[in-house]
This record gives sequence, structure tokens and C-alpha cells, in this order.
Amino acid sequence: MTEIAHYIDGARVSGTSGRSQPVTDPATGESTREVALASPAEVDRAVEAAQAAWGEWRRTPALRRARILDRFKTILWDRMDQLAETISAEHGKTHDDALGEVTRGLEVVEFAVGAPNLLKGEITENVGTGVDSHSLRQPLGVVAGITPFNFPAMVPMWMFPVALACGNTFVLKPSERDPSASLLIAEWLTKAGLPAGVFNVVQGDKAAVDALLEHPDVKAVSFVGSTPIARYIYETGTKAGKRVQALGGAKNHMVILPDADLDMAANALMGAAYGSAGERCMAISVAVPVTDQVADALIERLVPKIEALKVGPAADRASEMGPVVTRAAQEKILGYIDRGEAEGAKIVVDGRGFTPPQGYENGYYVGPTLIDEVTPEMTIWREEIFGPVLSVVRRKDYAGAVELIDRHDYANGVAVFTRDGDAARTFAHDVEVGMVGVNVPIPVPMAFHSFGGWKQSLFGDHHMHGPEGVRFYTRLKTITTRWPTGVRTDPEFVMPTMG
Ligand code: NAD
Repeated sequence: MTEIAHYIDGARVSGTSGRSQPVTDPATGESTREVALASPAEVDRAVEAAQAAWGEWRRTPALRRARILDRFKTILWDRMDQLAETISAEHGKTHDDALGEVTRGLEVVEFAVGAPNLLKGEITENVGTGVDSHSLRQPLGVVAGITPFNFPAMVPMWMFPVALACGNTFVLKPSERDPSASLLIAEWLTKAGLPAGVFNVVQGDKAAVDALLEHPDVKAVSFVGSTPIARYIYETGTKAGKRVQALGGAKNHMVILPDADLDMAANALMGAAYGSAGERCMAISVAVPVTDQVADALIERLVPKIEALKVGPAADRASEMGPVVTRAAQEKILGYIDRGEAEGAKIVVDGRGFTPPQGYENGYYVGPTLIDEVTPEMTIWREEIFGPVLSVVRRKDYAGAVELIDRHDYANGVAVFTRDGDAARTFAHDVEVGMVGVNVPIPVPMAFHSFGGWKQSLFGDHHMHGPEGVRFYTRLKTITTRWPTGVRTDPEFVMPTMG
């Protein structure tokens, strides 16, 4: 079996821990590769390499750092298909969807190329007589990124381009379920001219994560994944004195008001609920039609579209939705549909009996599912399903819809569909959610804005990429300067006031 290795100090490095696990192709259920699982000693090696590279890298002018990222961006553009195929082979998403993921990640690289502009400081002349003051942002040192399976290229690219542009060195711990994209990225960064040790990859599981959280030379940790692990990372990392941003799970609602364009809303829901088999942190998993008439009309439009959705492997470029990531994920999602039915919801389109295309019988497929009459008391509303399952929670009025959303523990994304500007504006201002879309179903901010949810969807103070990313990966220094000319030399024993 082929080994998926680490990448340390500018080269692939085989695992030495004696631990590894299979990586499967979700389309077929076959496993042809094994990912190495790092021991704490291997994590130490990666951190050591990053620490050793930091001194030189932080002194490299920001413009030169940016130029290396610019070359990396060109390589990414040229080899996008290769990266997308690598993603699909381990994640299962369709080729076009994987290309979309790479493009969204690449946009953060484009943003980071402009980072020298964002690193400009501030200066105030003559804060006191003959005294000037200026502030600047400096890198933290070695920073770590721990990422989920659902965006094996994009989520790491939310982190490292900004971290590197700011002058940090990086250790990435990708998901063990689809780890190969990280190695292509590492190799292409080296090819772009990144010095050895500036970007490293340790493959692994909890043992590698814990070693990163405990390592005194890791100054900051960016995490994206499920809420229980995000909370653990935040609590453990901050206790060890690190700066931590930990993005967690989601349950994203889409409110459809009575004046909405229902065809537009139904089409938007199709992509937002079933794209990437619902394995997106910004997927819409709950539709909230306001009034029963809107609910009935919406479901009438959705059902034929769901039944016509083409589910299949990424190898078939006509597939619109692929399998889910693992057998365990498939079983969990099917279990949630059973649970919804048992708790009294109405299964309108049932994905449980889905028959995979010929030759893919062992793949991890779940058919697109629509469940009506879901209530806030049900498990399928409270918990994140992370699969191609759309729940409908009917509400009588606008206030009931907002109350429902605000009652949820997760607060990543939300959308409202309406033609009423007043209602949309009030919604956007009032709703307790981090990212809001108005007639936009998946309001993922562009790279030059910042990404992050509220409540149990984010632990920490900084969102990712954009200006918040620069703040997270730098610390502020303020320098006050006085030159001897014209300065009195008597000792001062009172608090200096500069006045
Ligand atoms: P996960 O929490 O299982 O894993 C994320 C990372 O944590 C992986 O690298 C994994 O190896 C590591 N990990 C897992 N268990 C651990 C443990 N016990 N101790 C230490 N580390 C551990 O998440 P996943 O299943 O890979 O990804 C899906 C989840 O990520 C969903 O909940 C989804 O909503 C969330 N997500 C959130 C966002 C966001 O922006 N908020 C974006 C993408 C995904």
C-alpha cells in the first residue's frame, strides 16, 4: 500500500511511529493508501524545523514573502485539475465542486499576496515634545493549523497563506481522512521558492494534535472542525498560553418569507443543501418557510428537483452529488433519518434506499433526503447531520423564524429569501449568527473579508482570513522614540505625561 507521508523541512518524510490508517475512496469503498499517524517525536521534528526557519523568514521582506506566494498561486492555477482529482479521490466530492473549493482557497492566496499593505503600521509625530510613536504588527513564530475533512485544500488555505505572508512559519495537521492534498500543496510551495521548514505537514490523529497543543514553541493554533473538538482545542490551547481560533460545527437555516421568489429559493436550496452531499459547514440544513402556503409551494418545487438529482462518483463528470466521506459518516446520516422518522417527522424524499450506480455498490452513498414537519424538539433539528438531508421547520410568521434560529446553539451561517428590503435589513441586523445571506444561500465571505460564526460555531476572538486573519497571525508592538536634540536630561520621578 502507498504511504501518505509527512512533509518536514522541505521534503516528504516517511512515518516512523509504526502507526497508520487506511484512506478510502468514498466512491468505491476501496482503500489503496495508508496515512502515517505522527508520534509526538515526529511532531517535535516538524516544529523544530519551523522554529529553525522562522528567524530568516521573519526577516525576509514582506514583499519577497508575497512574491513566493504569488508564484505558488500560479502553480495552483496551472495544476488545479490535479489537486481537484486528488481531493475527489479521498473526499468523494464531484470534480467541479473540488475545483470550486480550490478556487476559493486560491482567493485567500491572492489576498495574502497583498498582505504587505495590511502590515503597514501607524505613526504619530510629536506625541510629546520631540517624541514620536509608531506601532507595527509582527509575526508570532511557529503557528499550527488543524483542519477538517470537508475542505482538504480550502480550509488549510484559509490559514497558511495569511500566516506565511505575515512572517510566521507553519505546521499543518490535515484530516486523516483525506490527507493527500496537503502534500501537493507543500510540494508546490517548495517549488514556488518557499525555504525549507517554513511550511510543514504532520499527518496524524489526536496524538499529533495533542503534541501540537502542548508544544511550547507553537505560539498559535487555528482549528476548523466539529464543535466538541473545537471546544477542546480552544480550552487546551489557551490553557497552554497559545492564541487560538477554533471554528466548530453548524446548523444553517434559510428563511423563506411569503414574498420571496420561490423558484429562486428552491434552486438555491438545492445547491446549498445537497452540494458536496451536505458536507459543508455553510450548507443549508434547515429550510424555514414562513406560512404553510409557502411551505407547501416550496416542497412542491423541491421534490421533482431532488428526485432528478444525479448522484454518482466524481469519475462521472455528470454527477451532481457524490458519496459521503466514510462508511461511518454514511451510517450516522442514515441513523439520523431513522431518528427523525421515529420522532414524528415526515420523510418526503427518502435517501435511505439509494441504489449506487453499477460498479460503485460499495461506495458510501446516501440519496438526497427531504424531511418535513421537523420541530425544534427533534434531534435532527438540534444536532448537525452533515449529510444530504434537508429539514423543513414551518413557522407562522417572521418573528417565529428568527426566534427559532436564535434558539440554536450553532450560529455559523443563515439566509433570508425575500423581496422586502426592510425585512431583509431588519433580519440581517437582528439575527444572532456570524454570516448572513440576503437571497444568497451560502454567504461565505470573500477572502478579503473574514470568515467565522458565533456562539458554538467559533471559540476565540478572531475570524479567519481577511483583516481578522492578519490580526490573528500578528502581534502589535508600539515604539516610542526620542532623540537627544533639545531634550532636558534631569531625572524624572513622576509618571511621564509627555504633555
Ligand atoms: P473533526 O472535528 O472530527 O476533525 C477535525 C480535526 O480535528 C481533524 O484534523 C482531526 O484529526 C482532529 N481531531 C478529531 N478528533 C480529535 C480529538 N479527539 N482530539 C484532537 N483532535 C481531533 O471534524 P471533521 O469531521 O473532519 O469535519 C467536519 C466538521 O467540521 C463539521 O462539524 C463541520 O461543521 C465542521 N466545519 C466547520 C467549519 C467552520 O467554518 N465553522 C468549516 C468546515 C468544517
